[in-house]
Parts: sequence; structure tokens; C-alpha cells
Amino acid sequence: MGKRALINVDYTYDFVADGGALTCGVPGQEIEEKITAITKEFMEAGDYTVFAIDVHDEGDECHPETALYPPHNIRGTKGRDLYGSLKALYEEKKDKDNVLYLDKTRYSAFAGTDLEIKLRERGIEEVHLVGVCTDICVLHSAVDAYNKGFKIVIHRDAVASFNLAGHDWALGHFESALGAKVV
Ligand code: ZN
Repeated sequence: MGKRALINVDYTYDFVADGGALTCGVPGQEIEEKITAITKEFMEAGDYTVFAIDVHDEGDECHPETALYPPHNIRGTKGRDLYGSLKALYEEKKDKDNVLYLDKTRYSAFAGTDLEIKLRERGIEEVHLVGVCTDICVLHSAVDAYNKGFKIVIHRDAVASFNLAGHDWALGHFESALGAKVV
């Protein structure tokens, strides 16, 4: 197994589909082919491939996002299903040793999860990020990766946001402040 990992962030029905509860809409849908192709490449190369997926419990008044957004990615609902061709790819490969589905409850894939331990025990030094939203969950995951000393690669054509200005700002921030490669 290599020294790089793919962190695939929140590419679910609720964040991408037209009927999703908190959707990026068209910009999110436009990256479907690319995100699936990159994910397939990592999976087939034997690289560690993590699906870091938001999960919330219905009516969780203590969660800070409850005041900010409509309910989304509720446990046990189709809102948490991976979107489009990524879902089919995941279903095909999910039993492989290098594929991990990771529940997260905050923007960052590292917040309150064992992701850092999983990466360290595999000797992974470089994390590649794809998914949505560029300026929220991808950004917060990248900031945590930076603070933990991981090298970061962002796949420009496989991240998206409902907020184009936020998306563009984040792409600049990844390079200028986090030292990421934006490819
Ligand atoms: Zn959320």
C-alpha cells in the first residue's frame, strides 16, 4: 500500500442531487465523472480510500449546524447515499481492505474521528482531497491535515461548492496558506 490516501468528502445525495437537502446543485453534479474516475484510480492502485461522510441525528438541538442549515445527511436516510456513479463504484469496492467509510459529524473529516490514526498506522504522508463543498468540509479537512503535518493535494476538477466565490477563494487558500498542490 502506498503512502498516499484519498479523502472523498460528502459526495452524497443531500449535498449534490437536485432534491438534496443542502445541495451544491449543478457545480456538484458537474464533478461526478471526475470524482468517480479519481476514486477508481486510488482504489485500483491499492491506495487507502476514505469516504468521509457527514452524519446527523434528527432533531439534534445540541449540534451547531442545527442553527445554520436545514436538516441534512440524517442517519439512515437516502440523503447519505453517495451520489451517482460514485455510489456504484463504492458498492463494488466497499469490501476491499483499502476502502473505509467514515462517519463524521463536523465539517472536518478529522474532527471526532479516528482518521488520523488510520492514516498514521498506514504510514500515509500525503492526503488527496475531493468532494464538496470546497470552502466548507473540504477546506476544514485540509486545514486539519495541514495542522497535523500531512502533505495535501486538492483535485481542482473534483471539488465544488454552491458558492463560486467561496470555491475560488478556497482554491487559492489551499495553495497560498496550506502549501497544498492544486492539480
Ligand atoms: Zn452537516
